[in-house]
Amino acid sequence: MKKIKNKSIIIPILIFVISLSSLIFMNYHNSSIGYRSYILFEKDLSSKNISTIYLTDSPKIRVQLKNGMTYETDNPRTPDIKKTFLQNGINVDENYPVSSREAYPIALMTISAVYIIIMSLKSSRKVSKRMLSLDSLDTSAVEGSNYSFKNIAGNEEAKESVKDVVDFLKNPEKYASYGARMPKGIMLYGQPGTGKTLLAKAVAGEANVPFYAVSGSDFIQVYVGVGASRIRQLFKKARNNTCGKAVIFIDEIDAIGKKRSASNSSGGSEERDQTLNALLTEMSGFNEKEGIVVIAATNRLDMLDPALLRPGRFDRHIEITLPDISSREKIIELHLKNKPAGNIDIHEWAQKTAYFSGAKIENLINEAAIIACKENSRKIENSHMDKAFSIVLAGYEKKNRDYIKDIDKRITAYHEVGHALVSMKILPNEKISKITIIPSTKGAGGYTLSIPEDKLYENKDYLERRIMVLLGGRAAEEVVFGHDYVTTGARNDLQRSTDIAFNMITQYGMGKTLGLLNMQELYDLNINQDKIIQECKNLIDSIYGEVKNIIIENRHCLKKITDLLLEKETLFSQDLDDLNLTVYK
Ligand code: ADP
Ligand code: ZN
Repeated sequence: MKKIKNKSIIIPILIFVISLSSLIFMNYHNSSIGYRSYILFEKDLSSKNISTIYLTDSPKIRVQLKNGMTYETDNPRTPDIKKTFLQNGINVDENYPVSSREAYPIALMTISAVYIIIMSLKSSRKVSKRMLSLDSLDTSAVEGSNYSFKNIAGNEEAKESVKDVVDFLKNPEKYASYGARMPKGIMLYGQPGTGKTLLAKAVAGEANVPFYAVSGSDFIQVYVGVGASRIRQLFKKARNNTCGKAVIFIDEIDAIGKKRSASNSSGGSEERDQTLNALLTEMSGFNEKEGIVVIAATNRLDMLDPALLRPGRFDRHIEITLPDISSREKIIELHLKNKPAGNIDIHEWAQKTAYFSGAKIENLINEAAIIACKENSRKIENSHMDKAFSIVLAGYEKKNRDYIKDIDKRITAYHEVGHALVSMKILPNEKISKITIIPSTKGAGGYTLSIPEDKLYENKDYLERRIMVLLGGRAAEEVVFGHDYVTTGARNDLQRSTDIAFNMITQYGMGKTLGLLNMQELYDLNINQDKIIQECKNLIDSIYGEVKNIIIENRHCLKKITDLLLEKETLFSQDLDDLNLTVYK
């Protein structure tokens, strides 16, 4: 195709060049045309040898004799010279002579030039069209993606969260008949390699609908408008496929949906805005019956433009966390399944691969398989896993952080259990649904309270208890590891507890310095802020003292829960119940 196109443009270019050079050549010859003095010319004139005279404004006139010969002579420039010539029976031509020899190349040159211009216009239009189209994006749909939930080990909560979407994709009319509104967009967030793409593929596979995958960075181009146009093309393609339903997966959505900040308002942001707007328009464009679901993935939810996360857009947010020990066991098992695995201690490898993502584990097992293959071993053995482990670790981090990691894990565990323990003690009605040391996008570990009963107002006593729970993490660190070994892990807790204490004293009329005055209203008057800060500090200090006492009194429980947490990495309320602790008493 490309060859033919090249030929069709090369031939006219060749013709153009040849005719141009022949013209130059002729011109050169013309300029070497003979010259005769005016005296000799007058002789020709009187002897009636002349057939034509080319009379122009130039200083020379050209003379053609009856025998075909031509020469030039000086232009006399007298006003009635033309009359004289005509009276002598000579043709007078007032145009510069174009010989037939010259006419052909000129015609050819003109034709080929026009042709070349048309061709180049055409092809430039084609190029710009291609830039606008999705053809340069690799978005051919994977029909009936072969993936299913079976390909995902662990991630149970995430799978549960998308099951209804699969059902909806299979039967959108059913949901529509109930007037149920399905999420048009699902936002998967979590660290790289945790299986976000895998989950999106599995949704398409389970529902047996085409899967369109693109990356946010594909939409950010130099040319304004290209991204928006690509978005429209993508949706058009998804909508017009044979079954009319589809899963559209947009990886790295932050490339187009990053929060707008004042500092980066210049450069490329117009393009991003256009692209983002096109996406939002498309998403609000399709209706509930259509059966198109957009799944997006990002590493950081808090980096995204809130416009993306509003109802009717990406309103279902699912966190995909790093796998805990039991999930890692399942992932290892899954990836060993189709390989000749020898006597590999899966539980031990699950322990060793703390903080590994699913992708890292997959990589580890793949390395082990390569090593086993190189050694011509019949099966993949523990020794191959060992070698692969050091290769993989060396690849991921320059230094061996195993030891540090162990101690990190212990600190995180005590910190999180500190929060949980204080909560169990002073807010027994707020059940703890989860404690984990698996890092998430929000921080190193975490504990989750089940949602407390809805309260219209929070009273002073409750706010103080909230501060106590927030300080529980740092208090546990200090009690267990000593005053000099507390970590930076409490930063967020301290931010939040300071915020509550400050608001109590300055906004809610719960302090002494301002009493019932509201600080916001007093801001212009130069009030003594030192006193307020001092009161905040006193409040937090006294609460912290109480919290430390709770930790010290329940140290036995703290250790018991922490040990179990270190073993399992994630604890649920059932695990806590099973421990049969005395904290509640
Ligand atoms: P992400 O999109 O979150 O960066 P991917 O979905 O691309 O991660 O995961 C990369 C690979 O890691 C997958 O193809 C799969 O082999 C492996 N993987 C990740 N998580 C899991 C899991 N939970 N179960 C099985 N394999 C997983
Ligand atoms: Zn904390």
